[in-house]
Amino acid sequence: MQTERLIRIKSEEEIECLRRSGKLLASIVRELKGFLKLGLTTKEIDGKVEELIAEHDAYPAFKGYRGFPACACISLNNEVVHGIPSERRLKEGDIASIDIGIVFEKFYADMAFTVGMGKISPDLKRLIEVTEKSLYKGIEQAVIGNHLSDISFAVQSFVESNNFSVVRDFVGHGIGRRLHEDPEVPNFGLPHSGPVLREGMVLAIEPMVNVGKWQTRILDDGWTVVTQDGKPSAHFEHTVAITKEGPEILTQ
Ligand code: MG
Repeated sequence: MQTERLIRIKSEEEIECLRRSGKLLASIVRELKGFLKLGLTTKEIDGKVEELIAEHDAYPAFKGYRGFPACACISLNNEVVHGIPSERRLKEGDIASIDIGIVFEKFYADMAFTVGMGKISPDLKRLIEVTEKSLYKGIEQAVIGNHLSDISFAVQSFVESNNFSVVRDFVGHGIGRRLHEDPEVPNFGLPHSGPVLREGMVLAIEPMVNVGKWQTRILDDGWTVVTQDGKPSAHFEHTVAITKEGPEILTQ
């Protein structure tokens, strides 16, 4: 059971710092999207991410995190999250989920998106659309007075009404001066339970959505999470502050 007292409430000043970090990450992601093209290796993409982060005087949050060897997690097709950049090349019909975290002036931001490479199948297109939309369904519930699981329920019910499934083994998280803070933010669950959302909470909301079943497993590299049934998966994430004016997406 997650208790509210473990959830760090951010001051106005801290939210302002997180906003700067979030905006910076969003601009890095925009630049990266312009760089992506067929034929690149996922290692080349990671190299570009590293360059963009350094250019803006920020630091990669994932590199070295529990020994992770790269700046971005790049997960292709049936890979869900935590894919390690490698010599594999992006090819027509692939989908790539790219997750990037940065630290800027001591504050973290975390963001992920999935893109189709060249022409992708209608099913994959729908997977990407539903996953992105489910993120916004969750974000809509990130308002003062709601319960944490209202976010979870909104994501899950939207995804399942589209006949996809939500991953259970990995969840979103609080974020601030640390990459992972309390609370955990699952993408599944019944509404009206868990901590009450308060002004100044900052959450990384990140639905991972599978075409097939929700079960996952980890490859022998110790990182890459894949779907057990081998079917494709997508991932979107924003860092979101809960404010008096409603949810504020910091990574945009
Ligand atoms: Mg995250």
